[in-house]
Amino acid sequence: VPDGLSELLLSRVREVPDYPKPGIAFKDITPLLADPEAFGALVEALATLARELGATKIVGLEARGFILGAPVALAAGAGFIPVRKAGKLPGATLAQSYDLEYGSAEIEIHAEDLTADDRVLVVDDVLATGGTAEAAISLVRRTGAGLVGLAVLMELGFLPGGERVRKALGDAPYQALLTV
Ligand code: AMP
Repeated sequence: VPDGLSELLLSRVREVPDYPKPGIAFKDITPLLADPEAFGALVEALATLARELGATKIVGLEARGFILGAPVALAAGAGFIPVRKAGKLPGATLAQSYDLEYGSAEIEIHAEDLTADDRVLVVDDVLATGGTAEAAISLVRRTGAGLVGLAVLMELGFLPGGERVRKALGDAPYQALLTV
């Protein structure tokens, strides 16, 4: 992570207490997105990682992973693939369910947009429990494409998400630009 970048990024993330429900400290990245210097520096840091890993596709996780992943893909000369909540993608999909604190969720991908030659970097804004990223890692593996890493802006260090995704990634690297 380049000098001063962590401080810049951290200063542009707003913490909203008790949102969307009591006890959750929501990490709001909209101030960061509104600042072209901070947004550009974030995109450049993630695109540098994508280039180093030889990524040919960026997989972004709905919804804030789309906002970060699309410019990273273009800057790195890679394609962009959305992973969406179930029922939103019109084509043939692969689906993966995962457990939430209460109940479960399902995400999907258009598998035909990935090939065995692809090298995929998964991108999202916040890693909390790691459940979403872990499910996305499984989805990418099931397409037959190569998984080269996971990158997030921010990891919530008081949750075991980092450990969980490292286990799921195996030898592929995991990078959180910030840990709070
Ligand atoms: P998890 O599956 O628990 O790692 O949750 C990750 C997903 O939920 C990401 O797509 C995040 O955007 C979102 N998320 C979870 N916790 C927070 C939080 N405290 N602030 C902002 N986004 C969060």
